[in-house]
Amino acid sequence: YRAELGVRASGFDVPRPLKLFEHAGLTRELLATVKRRGYAAPTAIQAQALPVLLSGRDAIGIATTGSGKTAAYLLPFIVHAMDQPPLQKGDGPIGLVLAPTHELAEQVTMEARKFAKGDGLRAVGVWGGVGKYEQLKELKAGADIVVGTPGRLLELIRPKGGQPGLSLRRVTYVVLDEADRMFDMGFAPQIDRIVGNTRPDRQTMLFSATFPAAV
Ligand code: AMP
Repeated sequence: YRAELGVRASGFDVPRPLKLFEHAGLTRELLATVKRRGYAAPTAIQAQALPVLLSGRDAIGIATTGSGKTAAYLLPFIVHAMDQPPLQKGDGPIGLVLAPTHELAEQVTMEARKFAKGDGLRAVGVWGGVGKYEQLKELKAGADIVVGTPGRLLELIRPKGGQPGLSLRRVTYVVLDEADRMFDMGFAPQIDRIVGNTRPDRQTMLFSATFPAAV
C-alpha cells in the first residue's frame, strides 16, 4: 500500500499505513466532521502519519501544501487533547502548532476550529499585527489548541511589564509546520525557546516541504 501511495517511511517498527478514516480510532464527532467535509479516504501523508501520531510517537513528515498535512497532525491533536484532563483555570493549552506566517497560522486555526468544535475543544490563533492584550485575554479564557507564529507566541509567553504570560506547563503536543520556511525566516532561536518551555514528555512532530541540513 505504501508503494501504491508513493510513501516512503523509515524508523523503528513504523506502523502500517491506514486505508480508511474509520480505522484510525477517531472520536465519533471527529469522524463525522471528516465525513461531512467530504474526505473520502486519507491522503498519502495522512495514511502514514495518522497511525504514527495516534500511537503517540514523534515524527518528521515531508509534505507540501495541498498534501493534506494539516489534517494529518490536527486529527491526532484532537484525539490527544480529548485524552487529557480538562483544562483548569489558568492552564495554558494542551498543544501548540508553530507556523512561519500569519497566513498559514490563520488557515491552520480555521481548520483546527472545524475539527475541534464537535468535541467541545477551543482553538486560538496568535500572530503579529494584532493587539497582544486582546490575544492574551482570549488565551486566558481557555484554549486547548494554540496556533501561532514563533515571534508573537514568545511575546505572549513572556510579556513585557511583568504580567503573567501564557503557561506552557500543560503542553504535550507540539507541531512545527513548514519548518523549512521557519528556519529560512530565522525563527530557530524563538522555536528553541518555545519548545524548551513545554513538557519534556511531549509528543513532537515536524512537517517540512524540503529537508535542508538546518531543518
Ligand atoms: P493541506 O495540504 O493540509 O493544506 O490540505 C489541502 C486541502 O485538502 C484542504 O482544503 C483540505 O481540507 C483538503 N483535504 C485534506 N485531507 C483531505 C482528504 N483526505 N480528502 C479530501 N480533501 C482533503
